[in-house]
Amino acid sequence: MIRRVFRYVPFTIEQDQTAEPEYAVRCVSGDDAECGAESGTHSGPGPVEEWQRKHTQETGHRRYRRNFGDYAVMRPPAEPAGLTPAGGGTT
Ligand SMILES: [Zn+2]
Repeated sequence: MIRRVFRYVPFTIEQDQTAEPEYAVRCVSGDDAECGAESGTHSGPGPVEEWQRKHTQETGHRRYRRNFGDYAVMRPPAEPAGLTPAGGGTT
């Protein structure tokens, strides 16, 4: 059995600037079943909110589930900021 010892490295956690954050919203209005209409994924909140206003105007639906996602990179202290993380695949 191989015992692996990891020394403590004070990584900093940064948002991955090479990947766009993802904003999306889904309409969850409805009594029995939720409406389920989706805004699609956008790189900013603006188009998502615009879609919500339009959907509410068209349907009267007022309750939404918002989703936000972004990518985080662990950076060891020695590595200067701004470098693309090594070993990353294509996105
Ligand atoms: Zn709806």
